[in-house]
Amino acid sequence: MLAALPGARAVGGLVRDALAGLQLADVDVAAPWPPETIAERLREAGLRVFETGLAHGTVTAVLDHQPVEVTALRQDIATDGRHAEVAWTTDWRIDAARRDFTINAMSLDAEGRLWDYFGGREDLAARVVRFVGDPATRLSEDFLRALRFFRFHARYGGTVPDAAAVAAIAAAVPGLARLSAERVWSEIKRLLDAPDPTDALALMAATGVLGAVLPEAALVAGLDRLRRLIAASPAPDPLLRLAALVGEMPPRGLGALAGRMRMSGDERGRLSRLCGPRPEARPAPGLNDDALRRMLALLGRDDATAELLLAEAEDGRDRAADRARAAELPVPVFPLLGQDVLDLGVPEGPRIGRLYNAVRGWWFAGGCLADKDACLARLRDEVLVG
Ligand code: ATP
Ligand code: MG
Repeated sequence: MLAALPGARAVGGLVRDALAGLQLADVDVAAPWPPETIAERLREAGLRVFETGLAHGTVTAVLDHQPVEVTALRQDIATDGRHAEVAWTTDWRIDAARRDFTINAMSLDAEGRLWDYFGGREDLAARVVRFVGDPATRLSEDFLRALRFFRFHARYGGTVPDAAAVAAIAAAVPGLARLSAERVWSEIKRLLDAPDPTDALALMAATGVLGAVLPEAALVAGLDRLRRLIAASPAPDPLLRLAALVGEMPPRGLGALAGRMRMSGDERGRLSRLCGPRPEARPAPGLNDDALRRMLALLGRDDATAELLLAEAEDGRDRAADRARAAELPVPVFPLLGQDVLDLGVPEGPRIGRLYNAVRGWWFAGGCLADKDACLARLRDEVLVG
């Protein structure tokens, strides 16, 4: 990409993660021309270009079937704590100065030269997330940076966070209420996606930020549950981690949380399955195969696994063996259809459902083992007696 656009540089997360030796996520490129010029030069270089984010200075080019975002260098003209009005600039340092943290403000040119105006490389090595410029000012321009701080601290920070940043964030808590729910939820998800966000969350609680954006999670018990969840299953799963943080919740509380965060329908549904009210207590360790098959039939494999993990997060009792068996056992599927009842000559009506459910209940009670023939035999018996 840099070859197709002489004068452009890789910026932001790509430079940071390359220096940190981490796997590179998306490729972000910046160039010292207005977006229209960027689009023109990319087309001249023979690339396909989409002008999707032109107003923000971003065009998307497709290189080897991979979308690459190329953004014009920007300068903030006006900020109000949520949005910025920007102008294009040709000055790399000015563009770097409007970025949030020193580790995010580096760029890398086509010759492999690192442009590091604010000591980002040193901070990355020292594991310090430091604001570019005065933390209080940078927060007042965009309060979302308070949440971004914890996200980057969780990934790149060490044990001692930058004291100036923490103090300024604690003082900026009232400004968080002005952020849009979408931006808040998106940052929280990205924080929960870090390998281990627990220390960052504890710091978030201590500064009052967690209480302001996610009061449901601001209890010590939630952090303990999250620690145990991560010990049992380190693979990041933001929604499962949120469920561990908030613990079991009544439907009204869940609805309020999901509504406030503007969660998608899928997210809402999964969260309420994970931590909504349940008919039975969470399972104790050492389930037998019948009980495990019932769980699998009732919840499906993903939710059954999540249920075992949340149970372990709750009481700290090891369920690794249960989870291993839940991963291996086939998910039982009740072998009859409504048509099977009709085929026996039962007329349409509520009796169909009653018979079907009676056999399903019998199948379930037996550990979901009966095959289709056995279920049909049972159905014939039910038809005779019922
Ligand atoms: P990730 O790999 O998690 O996406 P990233 O560094 O790419 O990390 P993004 O949120 O994608 O993070 O932002 C890209 C870059 O844009 C950041 O590295 C930073 O330089 C800049 N940036 C993004 N949001 C802000 C903000 N609110 N204030 C200042 N700079 C920002
Ligand atoms: Mg990114």
